[in-house]
Amino acid sequence: MSNLIQPRDLQTETRLSDEFRLIPRWAIAGALLAFALTQYYFWIVLPEHRHHPSGVPVPFRLYLIISWGALAALYVLMIGYISNDAPRRGMSARLWMVCVIMPGGVGAVLYFLLRQPITATCPSCGAHIEGDYHYCPQCAYQVAACCGNCYRSARITDIFCVHCGHDLTASQPPARLHAFTR
Ligand SMILES: [Zn+2]
Ligand SMILES: [Zn+2]
Repeated sequence: MSNLIQPRDLQTETRLSDEFRLIPRWAIAGALLAFALTQYYFWIVLPEHRHHPSGVPVPFRLYLIISWGALAALYVLMIGYISNDAPRRGMSARLWMVCVIMPGGVGAVLYFLLRQPITATCPSCGAHIEGDYHYCPQCAYQVAACCGNCYRSARITDIFCVHCGHDLTASQPPARLHAFTR
């Protein structure tokens, strides 16, 4: 198998900065608006409809109202994030954007518990590949580093297989691996 020695990073691992980039502009604008609206409601609309002055001290009220505003903004950001994150995992964005509105952040927790791995495509044949695949199911193209003896996962920087002790440098590692291991 000649393509066994060309592990390729499909970037199925994501960094936090990349995750933030998934939040669309409309969600950021929406979050700011949600924050502004909650402030407007609690500071201006609500006191006008209240006949007795509220007994809550001002610093505590400030804390509460800012928290409510931040929470509202967070919900909007979550919805924006899911609108871009769900499709790349083969999940329904619309369904999850509705679910995430569930009170108490239950929807968000469920989303992160249940979300599928990011799907990618095979660089060789274009077939769908999931995050934990080592080889393409359609053309056997190697998409992640693994041991040449036991075929379990290996890190690109490992010299010996952590599962079977196989010398990974002996199984014709790619040039990139040599650069790391020397
Ligand atoms: Zn393939
Ligand atoms: Zn091994």
